[in-house]
Amino acid sequence: MSDDLSTRLIHHPYKPPEGFEGVAPGVYKASTVFFPNVEALRTTDWKDKSGYTYGLHGTPTTFTLEERIATIEGGLHCVLAPSGLAAVSLVDMALLRQGDEVLIPDNAYGPGKSFASVELAAWGITHRYFDAMDPADLARKIGPATRLVWLEAPGSVTLEFPDLPALVARVREVNAQRGADQRPVVTALDNTWGAGIAFAPFDLGVDISVQALTKYPSGGADVLMGSVVTRDLALHRQVLLTHMRLGLNIGVNDAELVLRGLSSMALRYHAQDASTRELATWMQQQAGVVQVLHPALPGSPGHATWQRDATAAACLFSAVFDASISQARIDAFCDSLRLFKLGWSWAGPISLCAPYDIGGSRSLGWPHAGGLVRFAVGLESVHDLRADLAQALTALNP
Ligand SMILES: *Cc1c(COP(=O)(O)O)cnc(C)c1O
Repeated sequence: MSDDLSTRLIHHPYKPPEGFEGVAPGVYKASTVFFPNVEALRTTDWKDKSGYTYGLHGTPTTFTLEERIATIEGGLHCVLAPSGLAAVSLVDMALLRQGDEVLIPDNAYGPGKSFASVELAAWGITHRYFDAMDPADLARKIGPATRLVWLEAPGSVTLEFPDLPALVARVREVNAQRGADQRPVVTALDNTWGAGIAFAPFDLGVDISVQALTKYPSGGADVLMGSVVTRDLALHRQVLLTHMRLGLNIGVNDAELVLRGLSSMALRYHAQDASTRELATWMQQQAGVVQVLHPALPGSPGHATWQRDATAAACLFSAVFDASISQARIDAFCDSLRLFKLGWSWAGPISLCAPYDIGGSRSLGWPHAGGLVRFAVGLESVHDLRADLAQALTALNP
């Protein structure tokens, strides 16, 4: 070994003893990983997780997280992306080519719609919006160029719960009629709301399940990450190779935080579910509130389907206000909340709210004239949260 300290600091003979095992999986950081010899450098394969080749292609930490996310959703394979939105656009890029068409629910996550209307459009990929609550509308809109159908349960912000088995059945009918030379239509579900807890996405028939791990799996409101889970190996390989070519990476310290969050995810999901139902039910009785949107509330769109297909509900509800209440008063209500903070995202410890202009974001119309506020319920005492809503409602109904 060299006499030069700079070399000896790097090529150091000490090796810690083997056999350390704790509750949390180890955090392995790398761009470079070593190969024992040239033969191994040439032949090691990372795609089936049988070896390590480069940090971008996986570490023990990221492989562990991928396996756990796939397990939670009842899938077999998982690819991790830098955000939920990156997971959505990754699926688009992996499956769509020039001349193809993608169908998107009109009530889908807005930035995913923007990716289609701006980026995909620029690459010669067309998109159409369908009414997720009307399987016949989806059937009418599937054309010869359709390759991908997005699904979301429930819809973003307005929380209509669709009949996923019926929507998937329409796609399968089309695939059964397609010749062997024609690529089938793939279904991809944004499963952020269900998180693998409210229902089993692959049992309802979807081909791909995408999540923003930013929400429940993290649970801390301090990490951005996404996942793409499949049961089909060929589909997984297609997504994996596009992911590799795009050079998408997630930081292992972020993977560590999500692994830590997973241990408490089911407890958090059910606790927030209970608080949310209580507050949503209470909110529905308040003056000036026309409707509360939450799949577990009778009268909320898709309630019966939610009852049939799901066993739990996430921490979101939206209140639609009477059309006579001005946006300025709705804004004053939001500004008056103390425990509910103003901000995007959900499933973190702190309750959040945000006003939305739904009419302005829908191509197929929206039945309400009044303003809407979406609430994301955190882990605070539900009693305190109700009191916060009650005091802020005086700003709405002075
Ligand atoms: C938050 C969210 C996303 C995007 O996740 P990010 O990690 O914030 O990019 C996608 N879909 C749904 C339904 C979401 O709620």
